Amino acid sequence: MGEKQEKVLLHTAFWWECPGCGTQNFDHGSPMELSDDERKELHRMHGVPEDDEGEWMGAPEKVTCSGCRRTFDAQHDSDLLQPDPAGDDDSD
Ligand SMILES: [Zn+2]
Repeated sequence: MGEKQEKVLLHTAFWWECPGCGTQNFDHGSPMELSDDERKELHRMHGVPEDDEGEWMGAPEKVTCSGCRRTFDAQHDSDLLQPDPAGDDDSD
């Protein structure tokens, strides 16, 4: 106490484990380009205040391992911006 702590701003990131060498990699993704409507929808879905200026970060499509430098296609298990076309409603 008494010592002034420096603060850092935390950003959303994606992490993945390289299947080749096992290195854990972090990737911060890239800001998504959203229309006003898409932005409002995301805010509504995630309970973010509408006037929040934060950027929505999208998952990268390709990632490169910092260990072995191999590049992989990225898979993202979030349905963010990818609503199930079948309209599968399994909420109960
Ligand atoms: Zn690797």
